Amino acid sequence: MSEARRLRVAVRTLCDFTAREGDLDHRFTPAPSAEEGIAGHAEVARRRGEGYEREVALSGVIEGLRVSGRADGYDPTANCLEEVKTHRGSLERMADNQRALHWAQAKAYGALLCAERSLPSVTLALVYLDIASGRETRLEQVHQAAELDAFLAEQCRRYRAWAEQEAVHRERRDGVLKRLAFPHADFRPGQRTLAEGAYKAAATGRCLLAQAPTGIGKTLGTLFPLLAAMPRHGLDRVFFLTMKTPGRALALDALRQLGAGGEQAEAGAGQGTGGRAGTSEGLPLRVLELTAREKACEYPGRACHGEACPLAAGFYDRLPAARQAAVEAGWLDREALREVAREHAVCPYYLGQELARWCDAVVGDVNHWFDARALLHGLAKANRWRVGLLVDEAHNLVARTRGMYSAELDQRRLARLRRTAPPALSRPLARLARRWQALVREAGLAEEGVPGRPAYRVLEALPVGMVAALQGAASAITDYLGEHPEGASPELQELLFEALAFTRLAESFGDHSLCDLTRHGRGRAVLGLRNLVPADFLAPRFQAAHAAVLFSATLAPAAYHRDLLGLPADCVWQSVAAPFAAAQLEVRLRTDISTRLRDREASLAPIVAELAGQISRRPGNYLAFFSSFAYLERVRAAFAEAHPTIPVWAQRRGMAEAERDAFLARFTPGERGIGFAVLGGAFAEGIDLPGERLIGAFIATLGLPPFDDFNEALKKRLQARFGCGDDYAYRVPGLIKVVQAAGRVIRGPEDRGTVVLMDDRFARREVRARLPEWWQLPGTPGDAGGPSDTTGPRERGRTGRVMS
Ligand code: SF4
Repeated sequence: MSEARRLRVAVRTLCDFTAREGDLDHRFTPAPSAEEGIAGHAEVARRRGEGYEREVALSGVIEGLRVSGRADGYDPTANCLEEVKTHRGSLERMADNQRALHWAQAKAYGALLCAERSLPSVTLALVYLDIASGRETRLEQVHQAAELDAFLAEQCRRYRAWAEQEAVHRERRDGVLKRLAFPHADFRPGQRTLAEGAYKAAATGRCLLAQAPTGIGKTLGTLFPLLAAMPRHGLDRVFFLTMKTPGRALALDALRQLGAGGEQAEAGAGQGTGGRAGTSEGLPLRVLELTAREKACEYPGRACHGEACPLAAGFYDRLPAARQAAVEAGWLDREALREVAREHAVCPYYLGQELARWCDAVVGDVNHWFDARALLHGLAKANRWRVGLLVDEAHNLVARTRGMYSAELDQRRLARLRRTAPPALSRPLARLARRWQALVREAGLAEEGVPGRPAYRVLEALPVGMVAALQGAASAITDYLGEHPEGASPELQELLFEALAFTRLAESFGDHSLCDLTRHGRGRAVLGLRNLVPADFLAPRFQAAHAAVLFSATLAPAAYHRDLLGLPADCVWQSVAAPFAAAQLEVRLRTDISTRLRDREASLAPIVAELAGQISRRPGNYLAFFSSFAYLERVRAAFAEAHPTIPVWAQRRGMAEAERDAFLARFTPGERGIGFAVLGGAFAEGIDLPGERLIGAFIATLGLPPFDDFNEALKKRLQARFGCGDDYAYRVPGLIKVVQAAGRVIRGPEDRGTVVLMDDRFARREVRARLPEWWQLPGTPGDAGGPSDTTGPRERGRTGRVMS
């Protein structure tokens, strides 16, 4: 790698590194969205005269560093270079260090411009565009070229030592990764196939949708090949993204097994890490665990600025030492990062955000890449990183990302706020309240409503009048808070966040979403903007990654995920063979039972008899899954009454972590009893009860989403777009849950168990076709006894294929 290639830096990164000092200040003035920023820059350029140059690409080699970037605009006639910033609220509230950072960027661009065009001097202008009013505030300084040159040289000198350290680290990291060996004597069955698929995806820059059974070691089977591919295929970063916190612990454990973190990580390594087969020298990989602000914050309830939080005061002054200590530590899971932050008296959450720039492997939540304002995606784009993405439990990605691109407005929140709002906000809030009433009336929900059930309407179109009133209220609140930061009451902030989230999504409203209104009673309506097809938002995210591996035990049918997630056309589907034989799992169907709402009463007795019969034939621990808490409770009560000597325990709504642990602790080898749970809930996936801890599951539901107006609208939209309305709205998501829940029973080659599927619809061909191939369903041809594809639909011949 040449010197010029190694030591390069973007103007923005350089200035962020060298020109920030003083307090961290996330005072309450919501920044414009990315779309607003782009639109604002375009607006300023449109106002300029002919000959104005937009997005001027500049670069130069200074102090051995290649510095490059794009200045927002240059007017050659006036010899004026402009740096444009969009903002909300009063500019006077902008912190001095923020302003200093903006001048540093303008000066850096000015130096590059003068050098490139041989200018003796240049006027630098900071142009602040107020998003709400469209007003420009302009600050100007005239600088000589020599002065700017000296300024940029000084910044580069300050950054150069860091850049050299980074280049040395990268070289060392890649050198060791080239020799990375699998940390165990052998792969588990199926693990090598998965690892080969993941490596190929990284090598060819593709997306892989990998369905692989539980127990083969998917986390290690995907992390190992991606890390091995880093030096050979020029990957800058690997991001391991999970749906829930336990997935992060597994990823960190796998990284420890691969040698990351050395002694520091080994101290925290869990059981079963085993020996390392080829990393006796240790793996110089910087690993960061990203945590949500609520979990990382040391001063919950305080605002993130120097006057409120001691860890924000002087943050940037202490950041260089903290950053250096952190990269030297290398292993930065939540506790380790917290420790570094504590030693240097800086905020651990914002230190983590900073270190996302400098770590090789980041373990975080899927929202860090897929959310509208995702940190990792933003950094990758700004730094043009070549990223390898790993997405665990990817069968949940459709639901999670739908949530990321949906928003709700609650009428009651407005009513509460109006009682305490400052007079300055009376008019915009009153206008919004009138719009609410008109909306409820126009939707025909004013008088309607079945007792006990909210009235509901899918709206034909976005209520533009309401959105306009909302924008007006949001602007007024932002301006008010800009002038009166002490007035940021929780009610005001909540409404503002809700309004901003809603209006931002409203800007991109289209075929991928719907707008609906639910009325729970007088003055209690909720306006929803609900994403139905996240693909339109996610396709660019997949394109931004060099390679992506989405894996789970239940990803079939591939087309469902390809269509709804917007996976690239050349995405590869892989179904890894299960190491389990059909003889390990007895699958029984009770097609004489109907679990439909109207048949619930009649279903109680046969379900109770089935549970009791099975546990008496084979005593042990079982899980029983139902479609709702109400149904669960009815069966549990009937069972407890009929069989008081058999222990039962039940899931409850909103269980705390300790309660969930207590529920799972009841599954003890040698005991017997039934844990009642809801399908799709906390105990239906992501839990591990191997061997005798769990020997069977009863599933008294198809897991179908409720047949209601929303799901019917969803079905219609998916039918129109993909021709698979029923399948994509109901059957596939339901059966993914069923297979996930059933997957709790067989966790390894030694396990033996029973799954009882209770509902007559399990006999239907289209339903059976979506159940795992290796299950031997009653009435299907006999099992050959050997391994076969697992947990997928009975769709043969698609393994390793590009999806069509
Ligand atoms: S410790 Fe909490 S309040 Fe303080 S800056 Fe960090 S996140 Fe904000």
